[in-house]
Amino acid sequence: AGLLAGKVVIVTGGGSGIGRAAAILFAQEGAQVCVLDRDEEAAGSAVAQIEEAGLKAAAWPTDVSQESDIETAVTEIVARFGTLDGAFNNAGIQMANKLVPDLEISDWSRMMDINLTGVFLCMKHQMRAMKGTGGAIVNMSSGDGIIGAPFASDYVAAKHGVVGLTRAAACETRHTGVRVNAVLPGLIITPMVESLFGNPAFEAQVAPMVERHSIGRFGRPEEVAEAACWLLSDRASFINGALLTVDGGYTAR
Ligand code: NAD
Repeated sequence: AGLLAGKVVIVTGGGSGIGRAAAILFAQEGAQVCVLDRDEEAAGSAVAQIEEAGLKAAAWPTDVSQESDIETAVTEIVARFGTLDGAFNNAGIQMANKLVPDLEISDWSRMMDINLTGVFLCMKHQMRAMKGTGGAIVNMSSGDGIIGAPFASDYVAAKHGVVGLTRAAACETRHTGVRVNAVLPGLIITPMVESLFGNPAFEAQVAPMVERHSIGRFGRPEEVAEAACWLLSDRASFINGALLTVDGGYTAR
């Protein structure tokens, strides 16, 4: 039973925050979860938590910006479980918190390598593994994937790129057999966000930002996991190329 019963599903960045909540929920919904994270300890602890609940998970140390890491993980997953049915390409890093004139090429390149190229590389190898059997992919964008924000040009550009990549791949479904959608969260309280508190540029934005989440609060990782889970499930069988905001109304105005 469960929305993802019997499915083999990858979660990148599954060691922490939204990815960890997703890995737990997907396992509860019946999936064999594969946690791909460059933080081996975090991935191992997520898997331990899922296994302690009597559910199925395994970890692969993977840097999503390294094609060989992804190719190895996907190959091993298919060899071990016989198939790949779904993937939540969630791994990502926070913005450098600089204005455009202060942003270094190294900040920019690191952001693109992980938050945009990382999603592309994952999709490429996941889709190859899904060839013939079909599958579903959910990419992690952000509200910043459809609107701008200050001190975040590197992040905003990468997340807009994920939107474009998602839409383009969704135009190829009759060739690939893979549905591709994106989730666009508002501000979600995770370790990534907690690390920003204390930064004056960020602190100054907190009050107006809560205000813009018209539900009146920031989000929880589990609330994003729910959206990703449904998009990966067969219940979303005609949803393709969708940009699902999970943002309490942040981008609605
Ligand atoms: P987090 O820092 O709590 O978790 C991110 C995880 O990704 C970590 O386990 C980290 O080790 C892993 N990771 C980072 N770089 C990696 C790489 N190169 N290869 C493999 N794993 C890597 O962050 P989070 O807040 O849960 O964010 C997850 C995703 O959600 C990110 O893509 C982020 O941009 C996006 N997002 C977050 C928010 C928010 O408010 N928290 C809002 C919108 C979008």
